[in-house]
Amino acid sequence: MKVDSIDPIGKLEDNNIFETSVTQYVNRVIEDVKNRNKGDEEFHQAVEEVLHSLEPVLVKKPEYIKERVLDRLVEPERQIIFRVPWVDDEGNVQVNRGFRVQFNSSIGPYKGGLRFHPSVNDSIVKFLGFEQIFKNSLTGLPIGGGKGGSDFDPKGKSDREIMRFCQSFMTELYRYIGPDVDVPAGDIGVGGREIGYLFGQYKRLKNANEPGVLTGKGLNYGGSLVRTEATGYGLIYFVDEMLKAHDYDLNGKKIVISGSGNVAIYAAEKVQELGACVIAMCDSNGYILDESGIDISLIKKIKLVERKRIKEYADIKSNSKYYEGQKGIWSIKCDIALPCATQNDIDIESAKLLVENKVIAVGEGANMPCTNEALSYLLENGILVAPAKAANAGGVATSALEMSQNSMRLSWSFEEVDEKLKNIMVNIFNASKEAAKEYGAEGNYVVGANIAGFLKVADVMISQGII
Ligand code: NDP
Repeated sequence: MKVDSIDPIGKLEDNNIFETSVTQYVNRVIEDVKNRNKGDEEFHQAVEEVLHSLEPVLVKKPEYIKERVLDRLVEPERQIIFRVPWVDDEGNVQVNRGFRVQFNSSIGPYKGGLRFHPSVNDSIVKFLGFEQIFKNSLTGLPIGGGKGGSDFDPKGKSDREIMRFCQSFMTELYRYIGPDVDVPAGDIGVGGREIGYLFGQYKRLKNANEPGVLTGKGLNYGGSLVRTEATGYGLIYFVDEMLKAHDYDLNGKKIVISGSGNVAIYAAEKVQELGACVIAMCDSNGYILDESGIDISLIKKIKLVERKRIKEYADIKSNSKYYEGQKGIWSIKCDIALPCATQNDIDIESAKLLVENKVIAVGEGANMPCTNEALSYLLENGILVAPAKAANAGGVATSALEMSQNSMRLSWSFEEVDEKLKNIMVNIFNASKEAAKEYGAEGNYVVGANIAGFLKVADVMISQGII
């Protein structure tokens, strides 16, 4: 049957035909996305993963089809692409490309990080922005979905070069953001230093001190305690809750973590605090294995303070070993795998190794760290999966807490923010668990998180009319 000719509402009488139509409706939306966004593979992947998992919802709630909620959801409200010219230390003119996708503002101002990495393109920004809609909805806080970044590579750049790049980037971006409009934060390659330079330039251009325009700020100019640690800590709070629901706990478990940046480091810190042992971590060059338990303070010093390669760890710790190439990290025998580096880190081969090695759980700290094939394989083989949209939502949730503190012009203590973060992660877990159960996928938190995140956005989109 020609997909375009389907009117699922007209097929309600015959439930079987209707269910077929739901699948066809979803497939038609996915095809439209592929045609409109040619070559944007990461975006296609993210859309396919989410939309297929929503089919049971559409069967129960055909009004979402009638209102064409999916068609609207997959089309960003606005996309901005801009030139970022800057001058390097040798006096040469460099040109990068800047992006901001303002995906969905139903629930609140667009919110989502900025990524500076040579791989950033339209597809990466759209996949991240799309996922952000559901993640932000799951936090229960009033934030919409957005994402941005640049193909600028901060590696090997001097502080001054980073500053000049950030100033040029913000000179264009500032027109499109604001505390009630769009509130960027950090992501890969954007940490406290970059947020500082971006905020300084925004303030200068606007002639106004609006701390609520960016999150992840320094503590002495409007930042929130726990924001730095929040994504990693939140991931572990979620994984801990998920394990408890299946009669496991973290105590004594062997953990492998990919990445050694913000998310990886604070996930490692929290999981060790809760009695587990992190035995391997990596950067984009290779991984280290330390069966006695990785010294996280040393990783912090090497990666965050000195901005060096993880290889240095093995030079200092004689018990540990360094292996060139990052992929081999998933062949290490462990109980829990925490991909906290980048997208599509765990492909089907790595997923097979994890299953062979009898991992109990995979906790996604990074965004879309598993390919769709790997994700299905892990779930089919009974591995507990803490999905990124839910499990790494602690970062953006704490960013929203930073926005609240900025609006109230006060600061909460570390313990207060940490407690709020923990409650949010427990609530997200429960929402994912309940939604999975209600829609016939008990124990599948990937489906549960997608559905729980979607329901709120879809209802708000309908109540706000066709916009
Ligand atoms: P960072 O830039 O702090 O760290 C990224 C880490 O991943 C680095 O160790 C980096 O290695 C490694 N990495 C990057 N690309 C690759 C690659 N292709 N192969 C292997 N390793 C790689 O970023 P974050 O920790 O902030 O972000 C990590 C992930 O978490 C991303 O997917 C991000 O979207 C997600 N996330 C981050 C949030 C946050 O609050 N920061 C919130 C929610 C999700 P190297 O040092 O060699 O570059």
